[in-house]
Amino acid sequence: MKSSEELRRQLRQIDHKGYKAYKILEGEYEFGAYRLCIDHVQGDPFATPSRVRIVYKNQKNIPDELFREKHRKTAIEDTLLRRLHRSIGSVVKGQRRGSGKSGMVTTCRAGQEILERSAMHITSTVAEARIEVGFPAFGRTIAAGELETLLFDVLPEVAESTFRAKPQLLEELKKAAYLADDQRFIRQELPRLGLAAFVADGAILPRESGISQKKMKGAVPFESPESLAVTLQLPHGGMLRGMGIRRGITVIAGGGFHGKSTLLKALERGVYNHIAGDGREYVITDETAFKLRAEEGRSIHEENISMFINHLPTKADTADFTTENASGSTSQAANTVEALAAGSTVLLIDEDTSATNFMVRDGRMAQLVSDEKEPITPFIRKIRSLYQDLGVSTILVAGSSGDYLSVADTVLQMDCYRVCDVTEKAHALAQELKEEKADAARWLRKPVRKKEIEKIRVHGWDSLSIDKSEIDLRYLEQVVDESQTAALGYIIQYILTRTADGRKTPDALAEEIAKKLDAEGILSITPKNYSAGPSAMVRKQEILACLCRYRLL
Ligand code: ADP
Ligand code: MG
Repeated sequence: MKSSEELRRQLRQIDHKGYKAYKILEGEYEFGAYRLCIDHVQGDPFATPSRVRIVYKNQKNIPDELFREKHRKTAIEDTLLRRLHRSIGSVVKGQRRGSGKSGMVTTCRAGQEILERSAMHITSTVAEARIEVGFPAFGRTIAAGELETLLFDVLPEVAESTFRAKPQLLEELKKAAYLADDQRFIRQELPRLGLAAFVADGAILPRESGISQKKMKGAVPFESPESLAVTLQLPHGGMLRGMGIRRGITVIAGGGFHGKSTLLKALERGVYNHIAGDGREYVITDETAFKLRAEEGRSIHEENISMFINHLPTKADTADFTTENASGSTSQAANTVEALAAGSTVLLIDEDTSATNFMVRDGRMAQLVSDEKEPITPFIRKIRSLYQDLGVSTILVAGSSGDYLSVADTVLQMDCYRVCDVTEKAHALAQELKEEKADAARWLRKPVRKKEIEKIRVHGWDSLSIDKSEIDLRYLEQVVDESQTAALGYIIQYILTRTADGRKTPDALAEEIAKKLDAEGILSITPKNYSAGPSAMVRKQEILACLCRYRLL
């Protein structure tokens, strides 16, 4: 390792030279409190900024017990990353120092969810932050003085204000660790209590707007109906009352605009932990829960959707179904079998975003068009056996299809943002329904072959391109963050170039890499130059969903 003075000397030597001369700076430098690693220097001032690490020495100023357990570690890293982000904002103030991306300093921006992220990593000896720095130039001429200011004045200040142990820092970290303990406790209690999800009293579910995940001001706080109330004794947060959504079939009914979709959305995101002050800190959903929706136009490769779709007019084999352009119902059928293949034991469905013919077929329509002429077996005929035979629960928002009331174990009604348990009333209206056995045959058949991938690109959070092929993630509603999209890109690349072998199916590959992520962390699949941006943890469900949507599979 070189000294920081060495870096200063090298910098002064390359001043006014062509941009490429910056390359010689790649390496590691001792800065006292931390090590500065220049991992990758950008090719020109307009390219993605250079990749730099601040490896801050943790001489027991952040005590081990705060991050020894994995759930706490994620929370501690998340807190440090948010501090780093704030500190960059206040020290750098977005000022530019030349052309292109000169002088830009950024790091991963975390949203409301607490996720393991490549941008921050703590061990018992160091806290390591990954930041992006636009090495300054005027035109394409190196502006060494500007970089010197960044590396010798700005970054030390950023590092100090992020990591230096002060009582206020330790207090903040302790709070985050305690919240993580409480959230994990609730998650672990779910199976013991036979619950698919828990929503605490006082939770704020609605968001500020369609484009902001911050909590809505002046919203009606959540309150559990007495019949579904569960009270938990949290490790740190005292007694907590809330609604336990039991396993089985739960229908959320209610008039339009009464808060049904808002509750379901909160449950979708409840597979992740949320930061203090979010309003959904104690909205905890089974972590395998998957949002199912229609997704017209997606591609499907050799999947067995015969559970829902049979004898198509084209005579296509639906036990081994492939299309480049799925309909509403076939896409939702594929989404369902993929969720099952990914091991989801809770399915989340909103009638508003479902294909009507996938969900129900009423009696009169069945008389007009006989079962033999109708390729679709609607979800309602399978929902019972999904639970009884496969142990898969469903939580479904249904504002209009009353048919689901008759198969529900629990019926909730949203009334002016308040939940009432109307199960008895609904059952009085219900009729018996024929049950069918779910076909638990292999869902996904397509073995995945090796493939060379040159470039992964991320466009916002909802689209990913792998070389020339786009994967549309708009309808994977549980991808909540651009860094998750980047992670999916790296993972798909990893799978296609390394673990695919022409024999393993997508679900086996997703399972394998999910295990690796669990054991080795997000950095294990993040390339050193993370060219598509910082990454964040993703579940097996999203990995499989993404792989199955790749058109060149
Ligand atoms: P539904 O699906 O029943 O038609 P939504 O969940 O879409 O209703 O909610 C309708 C509107 O009410 C949304 O704008 C949402 O932000 C708002 N809303 C939802 N829950 C609450 C609440 N607890 N307090 C205040 N406003 C809410
Ligand atoms: Mg709705």
